Amino acid sequence: MQLKNSTYHIQDISMQALAEEYGTPLFVYNAFTIDRQINRLQNAFDGFPHRINYAAKSLTNIAVLRLIRSYGLGLDVVSVNELKMGLDAGFDPDDILFTSNSVSFEEIKQAIDHGIKVNIDSLSLLETFGKTFGGSEPCSIRLKLDPLVGEHEASTKWHNKSKFGIHYSRLDDIKALIDSYDLNIVGLHVHNSSSFLDIPVYLEAAERMFSIAQSFEELDFVDFGGGITIPFHPDDEVIDVEKLGHVLAVKVEAFYDDYGSRPEIWFEPGRFLVSECGYLLTTVTVLKGDRDLPYAGTDTGFNHLLRPKMYDAYHEICNISNAKGELKRYHVTGNMCETDFLGRDREIADIREGDILCLKNAGAYGACMASNYNSRVRPAEVIIKNGEVHLIRERETYEDLVHKQVDIDW
Ligand SMILES: *Cc1c(COP(=O)(O)O)cnc(C)c1O
Repeated sequence: MQLKNSTYHIQDISMQALAEEYGTPLFVYNAFTIDRQINRLQNAFDGFPHRINYAAKSLTNIAVLRLIRSYGLGLDVVSVNELKMGLDAGFDPDDILFTSNSVSFEEIKQAIDHGIKVNIDSLSLLETFGKTFGGSEPCSIRLKLDPLVGEHEASTKWHNKSKFGIHYSRLDDIKALIDSYDLNIVGLHVHNSSSFLDIPVYLEAAERMFSIAQSFEELDFVDFGGGITIPFHPDDEVIDVEKLGHVLAVKVEAFYDDYGSRPEIWFEPGRFLVSECGYLLTTVTVLKGDRDLPYAGTDTGFNHLLRPKMYDAYHEICNISNAKGELKRYHVTGNMCETDFLGRDREIADIREGDILCLKNAGAYGACMASNYNSRVRPAEVIIKNGEVHLIRERETYEDLVHKQVDIDW
Protein backbone atom coordinates (compact mmCIF):
# COMPACT_ATOMS: atom_id res chain seq x y z
CA MET A 1 0.00 0.00 0.00
CA GLN A 2 1.45 3.33 -1.06
CA LEU A 3 0.69 6.92 -0.30
CA LYS A 4 0.00 8.88 -3.50
CA ASN A 5 -1.33 12.43 -3.37
CA SER A 6 -2.07 11.95 0.33
CA THR A 7 -4.27 8.91 -0.30
CA TYR A 8 -3.46 5.22 0.07
CA HIS A 9 -3.35 3.03 -3.01
CA ILE A 10 -2.65 -0.54 -4.02
CA GLN A 11 -1.59 -0.78 -7.66
CA ASP A 12 -3.27 2.58 -8.40
CA ILE A 13 -6.55 1.50 -6.78
CA SER A 14 -7.61 3.92 -4.03
CA MET A 15 -8.35 2.18 -0.74
CA GLN A 16 -10.92 4.82 0.17
CA ALA A 17 -12.73 4.18 -3.11
CA LEU A 18 -12.65 0.43 -2.48
CA ALA A 19 -14.20 0.89 0.95
CA GLU A 20 -16.91 3.08 -0.57
CA GLU A 21 -17.65 0.65 -3.40
CA TYR A 22 -17.65 -2.62 -1.46
CA GLY A 23 -18.54 -1.34 2.01
CA THR A 24 -16.72 -2.17 5.24
CA PRO A 25 -15.44 -4.21 6.88
CA LEU A 26 -13.55 -5.47 3.85
CA PHE A 27 -10.51 -7.70 3.42
CA VAL A 28 -8.29 -6.50 0.58
CA TYR A 29 -5.43 -8.60 -0.80
CA ASN A 30 -2.60 -7.46 -3.04
CA ALA A 31 -1.68 -10.28 -5.44
CA PHE A 32 1.62 -8.58 -6.18
CA THR A 33 2.73 -9.09 -2.58
CA ILE A 34 1.99 -12.82 -2.83
CA ASP A 35 4.02 -12.94 -6.04
CA ARG A 36 6.92 -11.14 -4.34
CA GLN A 37 6.91 -13.46 -1.33
CA ILE A 38 6.75 -16.62 -3.45
CA ASN A 39 9.67 -15.40 -5.54
CA ARG A 40 11.66 -14.50 -2.43
CA LEU A 41 11.30 -18.00 -1.02
CA GLN A 42 11.97 -19.75 -4.33
CA ASN A 43 15.13 -17.71 -4.83
CA ALA A 44 16.27 -18.10 -1.22
CA PHE A 45 16.08 -21.89 -1.50
CA ASP A 46 17.33 -22.35 -5.05
CA GLY A 47 20.65 -23.77 -3.78
CA PHE A 48 19.05 -27.20 -3.25
CA PRO A 49 16.14 -29.25 -4.60
CA HIS A 50 13.10 -27.92 -2.80
CA ARG A 51 9.35 -27.66 -2.94
CA ILE A 52 7.06 -25.09 -1.39
CA ASN A 53 3.64 -26.23 -0.24
CA TYR A 54 1.33 -23.36 0.65
CA ALA A 55 -0.36 -23.85 4.06
CA ALA A 56 -3.98 -23.57 2.91
CA LYS A 57 -5.31 -22.86 6.39
CA SER A 58 -3.68 -19.43 6.55
CA LEU A 59 -5.88 -17.83 3.87
CA THR A 60 -8.42 -20.29 2.62
CA ASN A 61 -10.09 -19.01 -0.48
CA ILE A 62 -10.37 -20.95 -3.69
CA ALA A 63 -9.31 -18.01 -5.88
CA VAL A 64 -6.18 -17.53 -3.76
CA LEU A 65 -5.44 -21.27 -3.92
CA ARG A 66 -5.76 -21.14 -7.69
CA LEU A 67 -3.45 -18.12 -7.86
CA ILE A 68 -0.83 -19.89 -5.76
CA ARG A 69 -1.15 -23.06 -7.82
CA SER A 70 -0.34 -21.05 -10.94
CA TYR A 71 3.18 -20.62 -9.52
CA GLY A 72 3.65 -24.40 -9.39
CA LEU A 73 3.52 -24.60 -5.59
CA GLY A 74 2.11 -27.60 -3.74
CA LEU A 75 -0.41 -27.49 -0.90
CA ASP A 76 -0.34 -28.33 2.80
CA VAL A 77 -3.83 -29.19 4.05
CA VAL A 78 -5.11 -29.98 7.53
CA SER A 79 -8.62 -31.26 6.83
CA VAL A 80 -10.48 -33.20 4.17
CA ASN A 81 -12.43 -30.08 3.23
CA GLU A 82 -9.19 -28.19 2.66
CA LEU A 83 -7.94 -30.94 0.42
CA LYS A 84 -11.21 -30.93 -1.53
CA MET A 85 -10.84 -27.19 -2.00
CA GLY A 86 -7.26 -27.74 -3.16
CA LEU A 87 -8.44 -30.29 -5.73
CA ASP A 88 -11.23 -27.91 -6.85
CA ALA A 89 -8.59 -25.20 -7.28
CA GLY A 90 -6.74 -27.50 -9.67
CA PHE A 91 -3.95 -28.90 -7.48
CA ASP A 92 -2.77 -32.34 -8.51
CA PRO A 93 -3.30 -34.92 -5.72
CA ASP A 94 0.45 -35.62 -5.88
CA ASP A 95 1.11 -32.01 -4.93
CA ILE A 96 -0.94 -32.11 -1.72
CA LEU A 97 0.18 -33.34 1.70
CA PHE A 98 -2.45 -33.89 4.39
CA THR A 99 -1.02 -33.17 7.84
CA SER A 100 -3.64 -34.33 10.26
CA ASN A 101 -3.80 -34.33 13.99
CA SER A 102 -6.40 -35.87 16.25
CA VAL A 103 -8.53 -36.83 13.26
CA SER A 104 -10.54 -40.02 12.97
CA PHE A 105 -9.13 -42.76 10.77
CA GLU A 106 -12.15 -42.17 8.55
CA GLU A 107 -10.62 -38.83 7.52
CA ILE A 108 -7.29 -40.49 6.73
CA LYS A 109 -9.08 -43.03 4.54
CA GLN A 110 -10.93 -40.26 2.71
CA ALA A 111 -7.64 -38.52 2.01
CA ILE A 112 -6.16 -41.76 0.64
CA ASP A 113 -9.31 -42.27 -1.49
CA HIS A 114 -8.64 -38.84 -3.01
CA GLY A 115 -5.09 -39.93 -3.81
CA ILE A 116 -3.54 -37.62 -1.21
CA LYS A 117 -0.43 -38.50 0.81
CA VAL A 118 -0.86 -38.31 4.57
CA ASN A 119 1.55 -37.15 7.22
CA ILE A 120 1.11 -39.20 10.38
CA ASP A 121 1.60 -37.68 13.80
CA SER A 122 1.07 -40.45 16.37
CA LEU A 123 2.29 -44.00 16.92
CA SER A 124 -1.27 -45.25 17.27
CA LEU A 125 -2.28 -43.72 13.94
CA LEU A 126 0.84 -45.17 12.33
CA GLU A 127 -0.15 -48.61 13.59
CA THR A 128 -3.73 -48.32 12.32
CA PHE A 129 -2.38 -47.05 9.01
CA GLY A 130 -0.03 -50.04 8.83
CA LYS A 131 -2.77 -52.53 9.65
CA THR A 132 -5.05 -51.02 7.01
CA PHE A 133 -2.73 -50.21 4.15
CA GLY A 134 0.57 -51.95 4.91
CA GLY A 135 3.16 -50.62 2.51
CA SER A 136 0.69 -50.10 -0.32
CA GLU A 137 0.15 -46.40 0.50
CA PRO A 138 3.17 -44.16 1.10
CA CYS A 139 3.07 -41.84 4.08
CA SER A 140 5.29 -39.42 5.96
CA ILE A 141 5.89 -39.01 9.67
CA ARG A 142 5.56 -35.84 11.71
CA LEU A 143 8.18 -35.57 14.44
CA LYS A 144 8.66 -33.31 17.41
CA LEU A 145 12.15 -32.40 18.41
CA ASP A 146 12.33 -30.74 21.79
CA PRO A 147 14.54 -29.53 23.29
CA LEU A 148 16.12 -27.36 20.63
CA VAL A 149 19.12 -25.05 20.99
CA GLY A 150 20.26 -25.51 24.56
CA GLU A 151 16.71 -25.97 25.77
CA HIS A 152 15.72 -22.70 24.22
CA GLU A 153 12.88 -21.79 26.52
CA ALA A 154 10.18 -20.96 24.01
CA SER A 155 10.89 -23.90 21.72
CA THR A 156 11.01 -26.37 24.56
CA LYS A 157 7.78 -25.01 25.92
CA TRP A 158 6.11 -25.25 22.55
CA HIS A 159 7.29 -28.72 21.60
CA ASN A 160 6.98 -30.15 25.10
CA LYS A 161 3.43 -29.07 25.52
CA SER A 162 2.62 -29.68 21.91
CA LYS A 163 0.12 -32.34 20.93
CA PHE A 164 1.75 -32.50 17.50
CA GLY A 165 4.05 -35.14 16.16
CA ILE A 166 5.86 -38.20 17.49
CA HIS A 167 8.77 -37.36 19.75
CA TYR A 168 12.03 -38.27 18.07
CA SER A 169 13.10 -40.33 21.06
CA ARG A 170 10.49 -42.89 19.93
CA LEU A 171 12.43 -43.70 16.79
CA ASP A 172 12.74 -47.37 17.79
CA ASP A 173 8.96 -47.66 18.13
CA ILE A 174 8.54 -46.08 14.70
CA LYS A 175 11.03 -48.53 13.22
CA ALA A 176 9.29 -51.49 14.86
CA LEU A 177 6.00 -50.45 13.23
CA ILE A 178 7.72 -50.01 9.88
CA ASP A 179 9.10 -53.56 10.15
CA SER A 180 5.81 -55.09 11.31
CA TYR A 181 3.71 -53.57 8.55
CA ASP A 182 6.29 -53.09 5.83
CA LEU A 183 5.45 -49.37 5.83
CA ASN A 184 6.60 -47.15 2.97
CA ILE A 185 7.83 -43.97 4.66
CA VAL A 186 8.57 -41.39 1.98
CA GLY A 187 8.94 -38.27 4.10
CA LEU A 188 9.88 -36.85 7.48
CA HIS A 189 8.20 -33.69 8.71
CA VAL A 190 8.62 -31.16 11.49
CA HIS A 191 6.81 -27.86 12.03
CA ASN A 192 8.19 -25.25 14.40
CA SER A 193 6.09 -22.42 15.71
CA SER A 194 6.91 -18.95 14.42
CA SER A 195 6.98 -17.81 18.04
CA PHE A 196 10.56 -18.97 18.49
CA LEU A 197 11.87 -19.77 15.06
CA ASP A 198 15.23 -18.22 14.25
CA ILE A 199 18.21 -19.38 12.20
CA PRO A 200 20.00 -21.29 15.02
CA VAL A 201 16.76 -23.11 15.91
CA TYR A 202 16.10 -23.82 12.25
CA LEU A 203 19.58 -25.25 11.70
CA GLU A 204 19.49 -27.38 14.79
CA ALA A 205 16.12 -28.80 13.78
CA ALA A 206 17.48 -29.41 10.27
CA GLU A 207 20.56 -31.23 11.53
CA ARG A 208 18.53 -33.40 13.81
CA MET A 209 16.07 -34.21 11.01
CA PHE A 210 18.95 -35.10 8.68
CA SER A 211 20.47 -37.36 11.28
CA ILE A 212 17.12 -39.10 11.91
CA ALA A 213 16.65 -39.39 8.14
CA GLN A 214 19.63 -41.76 8.00
CA SER A 215 17.38 -44.39 9.61
CA PHE A 216 14.94 -44.26 6.69
CA GLU A 217 16.01 -45.73 3.42
CA GLU A 218 13.77 -44.32 0.76
CA LEU A 219 12.83 -40.77 1.60
CA ASP A 220 11.53 -38.55 -1.18
CA PHE A 221 11.43 -35.49 1.06
CA VAL A 222 12.34 -33.91 4.37
CA ASP A 223 9.72 -31.30 5.26
CA PHE A 224 10.49 -28.36 7.56
CA GLY A 225 6.89 -27.17 7.86
CA GLY A 226 5.99 -23.49 8.16
CA GLY A 227 6.65 -20.91 10.83
CA ILE A 228 8.74 -18.39 8.90
CA THR A 229 7.13 -15.09 9.74
CA ILE A 230 7.23 -11.46 8.67
CA PRO A 231 7.58 -8.40 10.92
CA PHE A 232 4.18 -7.43 12.33
CA HIS A 233 5.68 -4.77 14.59
CA PRO A 234 8.54 -2.55 13.37
CA ASP A 235 10.74 -3.97 16.16
CA ASP A 236 10.01 -7.63 15.33
CA GLU A 237 13.09 -9.63 14.45
CA VAL A 238 12.43 -12.24 11.81
CA ILE A 239 14.43 -14.82 9.91
CA ASP A 240 16.37 -13.48 6.97
CA VAL A 241 15.22 -16.11 4.46
CA GLU A 242 18.04 -15.42 2.01
CA LYS A 243 20.60 -16.04 4.75
CA LEU A 244 18.68 -19.12 5.89
CA GLY A 245 18.78 -20.44 2.32
CA HIS A 246 22.59 -20.05 2.23
CA VAL A 247 23.32 -21.77 5.52
CA LEU A 248 20.74 -24.47 4.92
CA ALA A 249 22.25 -25.28 1.50
CA VAL A 250 25.51 -26.29 3.21
CA LYS A 251 23.70 -28.62 5.62
CA VAL A 252 21.61 -30.08 2.82
CA GLU A 253 24.70 -30.89 0.72
CA ALA A 254 26.34 -32.59 3.70
CA PHE A 255 23.17 -34.60 4.25
CA TYR A 256 23.05 -35.70 0.60
CA ASP A 257 26.66 -36.89 0.80
CA ASP A 258 25.85 -39.12 3.77
CA TYR A 259 22.46 -40.24 2.59
CA GLY A 260 23.42 -41.30 -0.89
CA SER A 261 20.41 -39.80 -2.67
CA ARG A 262 18.83 -36.35 -2.78
CA PRO A 263 15.40 -36.15 -1.11
CA GLU A 264 13.67 -32.82 -1.78
CA ILE A 265 13.55 -30.27 1.02
CA TRP A 266 9.98 -29.14 1.56
CA PHE A 267 8.58 -26.02 3.22
CA GLU A 268 5.00 -25.18 4.19
CA PRO A 269 4.75 -21.41 4.54
CA GLY A 270 1.45 -19.79 5.43
CA ARG A 271 2.04 -16.43 7.03
CA PHE A 272 5.25 -15.72 5.09
CA LEU A 273 3.35 -15.89 1.81
CA VAL A 274 0.06 -14.22 2.68
CA SER A 275 0.26 -12.05 5.83
CA GLU A 276 1.57 -8.89 4.19
CA CYS A 277 -0.76 -9.06 1.20
CA GLY A 278 -3.82 -8.49 3.37
CA TYR A 279 -5.55 -5.37 4.75
CA LEU A 280 -8.72 -5.13 6.79
CA LEU A 281 -10.62 -1.90 6.09
CA THR A 282 -13.06 -0.79 8.76
CA THR A 283 -15.20 2.31 9.38
CA VAL A 284 -14.93 4.33 12.58
CA THR A 285 -18.45 4.27 13.95
CA VAL A 286 -17.90 6.24 17.13
CA LEU A 287 -15.27 8.33 18.90
CA LYS A 288 -15.50 8.37 22.65
CA GLY A 289 -13.54 10.65 24.93
CA ASP A 290 -12.61 9.27 28.30
CA ARG A 291 -10.32 9.97 31.20
CA ASP A 292 -7.91 7.72 29.35
CA LEU A 293 -7.18 8.00 25.63
CA PRO A 294 -10.05 8.42 23.18
CA TYR A 295 -11.57 5.19 21.91
CA ALA A 296 -12.13 4.80 18.19
CA GLY A 297 -14.90 2.22 17.84
CA THR A 298 -15.10 0.43 14.50
CA ASP A 299 -17.49 -1.77 12.55
CA THR A 300 -15.29 -4.86 12.93
CA GLY A 301 -13.84 -6.77 15.90
CA PHE A 302 -12.38 -10.08 16.92
CA ASN A 303 -15.19 -11.74 15.00
CA HIS A 304 -13.27 -10.70 11.86
CA LEU A 305 -9.67 -10.42 13.05
CA LEU A 306 -9.10 -12.71 15.99
CA ARG A 307 -5.34 -12.44 16.28
CA PRO A 308 -5.15 -9.39 18.59
CA LYS A 309 -7.59 -11.05 21.00
CA MET A 310 -6.24 -14.59 20.73
CA TYR A 311 -2.49 -14.00 20.53
CA ASP A 312 -2.20 -10.41 21.64
CA ALA A 313 -0.92 -9.89 18.11
CA TYR A 314 0.09 -6.47 16.88
CA HIS A 315 -1.44 -5.20 13.63
CA GLU A 316 -0.39 -1.75 12.49
CA ILE A 317 -3.36 0.59 12.04
CA CYS A 318 -3.50 3.64 9.79
CA ASN A 319 -6.18 6.14 8.89
CA ILE A 320 -6.93 5.85 5.17
CA SER A 321 -9.25 8.88 5.20
CA ASN A 322 -6.84 11.35 6.74
CA ALA A 323 -3.37 10.14 5.83
CA LYS A 324 -1.72 13.49 6.53
CA GLY A 325 -3.66 14.28 9.69
CA GLU A 326 -1.90 15.18 12.91
CA LEU A 327 -0.74 12.10 14.81
CA LYS A 328 -2.70 11.46 18.01
CA ARG A 329 -3.03 8.55 20.40
CA TYR A 330 -6.05 6.24 20.42
CA HIS A 331 -7.33 2.92 21.56
CA VAL A 332 -8.98 1.21 18.61
CA THR A 333 -11.75 -1.25 19.44
CA GLY A 334 -14.32 -3.34 17.65
CA ASN A 335 -18.08 -3.40 18.05
CA MET A 336 -18.37 -6.71 19.87
CA CYS A 337 -20.20 -6.85 23.16
CA GLU A 338 -16.92 -8.01 24.69
CA THR A 339 -13.61 -6.35 25.30
CA ASP A 340 -12.07 -6.31 21.85
CA PHE A 341 -9.08 -4.07 21.42
CA LEU A 342 -7.68 -4.04 17.92
CA GLY A 343 -4.89 -1.73 19.04
CA ARG A 344 -4.04 -0.11 22.37
CA ASP A 345 -2.44 3.29 22.66
CA ARG A 346 -1.66 3.71 18.98
CA GLU A 347 -0.39 6.78 17.23
CA ILE A 348 -2.76 7.33 14.30
CA ALA A 349 -3.50 10.32 12.06
CA ASP A 350 -6.38 12.36 13.52
CA ILE A 351 -9.51 10.17 13.49
CA ARG A 352 -13.01 11.47 12.77
CA GLU A 353 -16.21 9.45 12.90
CA GLY A 354 -16.78 7.90 9.47
CA ASP A 355 -13.06 7.60 8.67
CA ILE A 356 -11.77 4.35 7.22
CA LEU A 357 -9.02 2.65 9.21
CA CYS A 358 -6.78 -0.04 7.80
CA LEU A 359 -5.33 -2.94 9.79
CA LYS A 360 -2.22 -4.25 8.10
CA ASN A 361 -0.82 -7.79 7.74
CA ALA A 362 -4.35 -9.17 7.89
CA GLY A 363 -3.92 -11.72 5.09
CA ALA A 364 -2.86 -14.77 7.11
CA TYR A 365 -5.18 -16.09 9.81
CA GLY A 366 -7.58 -13.19 9.22
CA ALA A 367 -10.66 -13.96 7.12
CA CYS A 368 -10.23 -17.71 7.58
CA MET A 369 -10.59 -17.36 11.37
CA ALA A 370 -13.57 -15.01 11.20
CA SER A 371 -16.80 -16.02 12.93
CA ASN A 372 -20.42 -14.95 13.17
CA TYR A 373 -20.21 -14.10 16.86
CA ASN A 374 -22.71 -11.42 17.90
CA SER A 375 -24.69 -12.45 14.80
CA ARG A 376 -22.59 -10.30 12.57
CA VAL A 377 -21.87 -11.31 9.02
CA ARG A 378 -18.38 -12.04 7.78
CA PRO A 379 -16.77 -9.44 5.50
CA ALA A 380 -16.35 -9.51 1.76
CA GLU A 381 -12.87 -10.21 0.36
CA VAL A 382 -11.33 -8.67 -2.75
CA ILE A 383 -7.98 -9.22 -4.42
CA ILE A 384 -6.18 -6.72 -6.61
CA LYS A 385 -4.24 -8.30 -9.45
CA ASN A 386 -2.69 -6.49 -12.42
CA GLY A 387 -4.51 -3.30 -11.46
CA GLU A 388 -7.94 -4.96 -11.37
CA VAL A 389 -10.16 -5.63 -8.38
CA HIS A 390 -11.73 -9.09 -8.12
CA LEU A 391 -14.39 -9.96 -5.56
CA ILE A 392 -13.45 -13.38 -4.16
CA ARG A 393 -15.97 -13.65 -1.34
CA GLU A 394 -19.29 -11.90 -1.03
CA ARG A 395 -20.25 -10.30 2.24
CA GLU A 396 -22.58 -12.58 4.14
CA THR A 397 -26.20 -11.64 4.74
CA TYR A 398 -28.79 -12.22 7.45
CA GLU A 399 -30.01 -15.21 5.40
CA ASP A 400 -26.56 -16.81 5.71
CA LEU A 401 -26.73 -16.44 9.48
CA VAL A 402 -30.01 -18.31 9.82
CA HIS A 403 -29.49 -20.65 6.87
CA LYS A 404 -28.74 -23.81 8.87
CA GLN A 405 -30.80 -22.96 11.93
CA VAL A 406 -33.96 -24.97 12.49
CA ASP A 407 -36.81 -22.76 13.62
CA ILE A 408 -39.51 -24.45 15.68
CA ASP A 409 -42.93 -22.96 16.11
CA TRP A 410 -43.47 -24.24 19.67
C1 LIG B 1 -0.18 -23.94 10.27
C2 LIG B 1 0.78 -24.85 9.63
C3 LIG B 1 1.73 -24.36 8.71
C4 LIG B 1 1.86 -22.89 8.38
O1 LIG B 1 2.39 -22.17 9.43
P1 LIG B 1 2.81 -20.64 9.23
O2 LIG B 1 3.26 -20.23 10.58
O3 LIG B 1 1.63 -19.91 8.75
O4 LIG B 1 3.92 -20.64 8.23
C5 LIG B 1 2.55 -25.27 8.09
N1 LIG B 1 2.48 -26.59 8.36
C6 LIG B 1 1.59 -27.09 9.24
C7 LIG B 1 1.54 -28.55 9.48
C8 LIG B 1 0.72 -26.24 9.91
O5 LIG B 1 -0.16 -26.74 10.78
